Amino acid sequence: MQAFSNAGSGDIVLAIARRIVEERAYLSDIDGLIGDGDHGVNMAKGFSLAAERLHGEARPLAASLATLGDVLMTEIGGSMGPLYGVMFSGFAEALDGVEAIDAAALERMLRKGLEEVQSIGDAKVGDKTLIDAFAPALQAFSTATAKGDSFAMALDALVVAAEKGRDSTIDMVAKIGRASRLGERSRGVLDPGATSCAIILRTLAEGAKAKLGTPAPQKLSEAKP
Ligand code: ADP
Ligand code: MG
Repeated sequence: MQAFSNAGSGDIVLAIARRIVEERAYLSDIDGLIGDGDHGVNMAKGFSLAAERLHGEARPLAASLATLGDVLMTEIGGSMGPLYGVMFSGFAEALDGVEAIDAAALERMLRKGLEEVQSIGDAKVGDKTLIDAFAPALQAFSTATAKGDSFAMALDALVVAAEKGRDSTIDMVAKIGRASRLGERSRGVLDPGATSCAIILRTLAEGAKAKLGTPAPQKLSEAKP
């Protein structure tokens, strides 16, 4: 079974936070085209605050995701605080008590996160939101595992679909959120939330793949002299 350990994977959340902070200006620039230009600033603030709380402690992935979810929910304004807040809290909940994260566990995690975002935001594919990156990514992951692809291959499929989904928002008219006020004028540019979501999913997938490639640390009692 291909899997990685929940206990040893909290640093994936730090990697996601790092990427979001790196893309702060880019994400705010694209939000400036169809929104109020605060997406990168909001996101970087929330993710860096969460990273500060996590630094120096080797927490499991589930616990790190829970901290990130809490910080986003309680400290970040705009649409993204609550939306990504419930998404990461949903991820954390789905992984709670799971020791070895295999493809099935990761799929349950993604599904729970997507359900949570849709339960508060009510967006569907085609509305020009982060759902346009997330939903096809989950679909591709689940299709890949169902046809017997390895965990790593399914993670690759997830990234490809997330980025294709992100790009599909260019031709869409926003039907929900601030950009929907622009109507037709929202067409022709990327959706900022779909863009940040694709970054999050890529970093998550890369982190998981790197963990898969690393053998589980030997227990001291098993170590050869
Ligand atoms: P605000 O719109 O409050 O300024 P942000 O700029 O941080 O918040 O985030 C904008 C992004 O939020 C959009 O690009 C879109 O992807 C996402 N979004 C907005 N409303 C929803 C919703 N109901 N469901 C899912 N995503 C949404
Ligand atoms: Mg905005």
